[in-house]
Amino acid sequence: MKSRSERTAKPSQSASGPESSAGNPQSPSGNEALQTSREKVQSANEELQRKIEETDQANIELRRAHQERAIYVAIVDSSDDAIISKTLDGIVTTWNKAAEKIFGYSAAEMVGQSITRIFPEDRLHEESYVLSQIRNGQKIEHFETVRRTRDGTLLDISVTISPVKDASGRIIGASKIARNVTAQKAAARAAQLLASIVDSSDDAIISKRLDGIITSWNKAAEKIFGYTAEEMIGQSITRLFPMDRLQEEPQIISRIGQGHRVEHFETVRKTKDGRNIHVSLTISPVKDAEGRIIGASKIARDISRQKQAEESLRRNEEQLRTMADSIPLLAWMAEANGNVFWYNRRWYEYTGTTFEQMQGWGWQAVHDPRILPSVNERWNESLRTGTPFEMEFPLRGADGEFRWFLTRVSPMKDTEGQVIRWFGTNTNIDEARKARQELEEETRILELLNDTGSAIASELNLEKLLQQVTDAGTKLSGAKFGAFFYNSVNEKGESYLLYTLSGAPREAFEKFGLPRNTPIFHPTFRGDGIVRLDDVTRDSRYGTMAPHHGMPKGHLPVRSYLAAPVISRSGEVIGGLFFGHPEPGVFTERSERLIVGIAAQAAVAIDNARLFETAQREIAHRRGVELALQKTKEELEDRVQERTASLRETTEQLETFCYSVAHDLRSPLRTQQSFAQALLDSHDKQLDAEGREYATRILRSAQRLDRLVNDLLTYSRLSRTELKFENVPLEKVVADVMRFLADEIQRSAGEITIGTLHSVVAFEPTLNLIITNLITNALKFVKPGESPKIHICSEKRDNKVRLWIEDNGIGIRPEGLNKIFGVFQRLHPVNKYPGTGIGLAIVQKGAERMGGKAGVESESGKGSRFWVELPA
Ligand code: ADP
Repeated sequence: MKSRSERTAKPSQSASGPESSAGNPQSPSGNEALQTSREKVQSANEELQRKIEETDQANIELRRAHQERAIYVAIVDSSDDAIISKTLDGIVTTWNKAAEKIFGYSAAEMVGQSITRIFPEDRLHEESYVLSQIRNGQKIEHFETVRRTRDGTLLDISVTISPVKDASGRIIGASKIARNVTAQKAAARAAQLLASIVDSSDDAIISKRLDGIITSWNKAAEKIFGYTAEEMIGQSITRLFPMDRLQEEPQIISRIGQGHRVEHFETVRKTKDGRNIHVSLTISPVKDAEGRIIGASKIARDISRQKQAEESLRRNEEQLRTMADSIPLLAWMAEANGNVFWYNRRWYEYTGTTFEQMQGWGWQAVHDPRILPSVNERWNESLRTGTPFEMEFPLRGADGEFRWFLTRVSPMKDTEGQVIRWFGTNTNIDEARKARQELEEETRILELLNDTGSAIASELNLEKLLQQVTDAGTKLSGAKFGAFFYNSVNEKGESYLLYTLSGAPREAFEKFGLPRNTPIFHPTFRGDGIVRLDDVTRDSRYGTMAPHHGMPKGHLPVRSYLAAPVISRSGEVIGGLFFGHPEPGVFTERSERLIVGIAAQAAVAIDNARLFETAQREIAHRRGVELALQKTKEELEDRVQERTASLRETTEQLETFCYSVAHDLRSPLRTQQSFAQALLDSHDKQLDAEGREYATRILRSAQRLDRLVNDLLTYSRLSRTELKFENVPLEKVVADVMRFLADEIQRSAGEITIGTLHSVVAFEPTLNLIITNLITNALKFVKPGESPKIHICSEKRDNKVRLWIEDNGIGIRPEGLNKIFGVFQRLHPVNKYPGTGIGLAIVQKGAERMGGKAGVESESGKGSRFWVELPA
């Protein structure tokens, strides 16, 4: 502005310049010219004057405009709203202080820039709309939008945009007034949020003035109390109060007035339809901006249901207690820490105590002090770990008697698994326990009885048996002393009395002699049945007899008396069992029954033992006879053996003799043969026909004898040769023999066929000998003029092999079948079929020596089938 005024001053100065220069006589045309000049100056001065005036006017206007503008600028600058102007293409032309403050950009940064710089991306489209409106001369008022500040914050703003016109009324730009409404919007949103929270709450939220007039009423309040907001706003809150609760309001107001809160105040309010409902109230003071209490806000929760639940819980618990009172068990409840806070009626009835005595840990008073420590230990363990408790222990009853109870305690836990309570019951198991003990006792006795029964039943030694019976009887009956007197019969048939004792040494009896047939003992020995006396000294039968008149001095002190006869199967009284005890009344009906049982078992066992003894004697007798027989048998066997041995010896001697004879015969025989042969060969001419005949006979008989001797030697050698067994294939031996007999076979025109042949275990030379003999016979014993047909084969029979040699020869008569295997046994005269009669004997002996046998099947005239069987 200042520079403007300076500039406006200049023309005035320059104006004076020409004026002074015009005064200079510079023109050469004289006065007229001067006049003209003066006129011109005059008009110029006038013109100047006018211009000066004009200028001054303009200056005045300008100053005014300047002043106006300054005011505007001041206004614009002092405005809290951003005031911005821009061209029609959106270029910022002015940017006030508030714009700087709101958007963070300075005027220098913004002037000349596009206004879109402060537009968020998603709002850019607004600019073209705004500009088109402005171009049309339209004003946009309170346009709510969002702009971005320099630091990127988005602001809610409200803009009013107006077109700017030049002097000619042309629209040249726009002015824009923008207000930051972010806080305002946030407040509105918060208020809305609060309202919706209040509306969505399940609790009634009500505000009221200090005079109790309701100022707000949410949806839940409508629902809980049944009144609409219209019905209640402006009404007194006491409308909700039941008559008997009206006095609560001044109390609440007085607390609120003092700035206090009322929390979780449980009370009753009335609904529109007249129902009383349980509510929990929380009431807080409401203050104005200056902190003055102007009212109260009230949150009311409908707790009717909760109350009902509590009520039903209470009723349930009452029912539970009533039930617990009616059960026959003792029952109680304890807190988590084990403090008992309740017992059922039975508990008090049984223990005869009071709650004051029993509460907490008072129950310990009814426990057996000896067992209490272990009860405490286990109960504390359960409390520590939260695990159920179970134990049997006695509890003292009102009568001072301890009875056994089974106690079970279970924990009740919350959802987190914490114990909230303990429920305990005590079941009276005293009877059951006694019964169990009795049963155990009974079982023990039965077992003992059974054991005794089996022990004595298996005991065959009479002495031991009686001792066992006495011991068992004493034990089972509960006696202190026991005795068994019994009749025994010796070998001569004389009867006498013996006894066994239990619980007392033998000497305790010995000095008194044996019990006599006194009236006390008599019924037992007579077999009359059991006698049981609670006190023998008080029995009328007692002490009636001299010399002792009762028990002898020093006798075992007997008061309780029990006696049972032991009667044999035959009805004979074997003896009596006697039991005593120094205390009276010890024996019961049960001990009586047991002793009867024992006596019966004893009778059977004694019978058995006696039978056994008799049997034993019988056995011993038989054994004697057996032994004698055995001896005779052994003697006989010895004799047989001796004879066999001597026979064998004789046979051997004979065989040896036979062998040596045969052996010794050979050399003279050879001599005889050779001389006979020499006679025939060398002296043929000297001998006449008769002489030659004789020499020939000598030679033949010598040859025959030689064969016989040879065969005999072979036969007797067979019994003395040592045989070595091996696996021998029959095929090989048969082939060997056939080779050996080749000439003979040829001579007889024999035909031999061979079938399957197995192997045998044999001594080959002997086997060879056997087969040779059999084939030789088969070739030999054919009808004159016929040629022999022989078939050789073998067959398996179990672990044996049977070799068959079958011929088509003359066969054997049935009566000859058994004979032919004997030495010298022949069925034909030598002149018909020559032979020594030893061949088959060799076959048989050879087979036998190799563990086999030989035989024949034949029919006269139909051929023979000889066989030899040997181990395979
Ligand atoms: P040997 O053949 O020397 O007479 P053996 O002891 O071998 O003596 O035979 C005894 C007798 O058995 C013979 O004399 C004969 O009567 C009868 N015998 C043996 N083998 C046959 C046979 N294959 N067929 C008919 N009879 C036979």
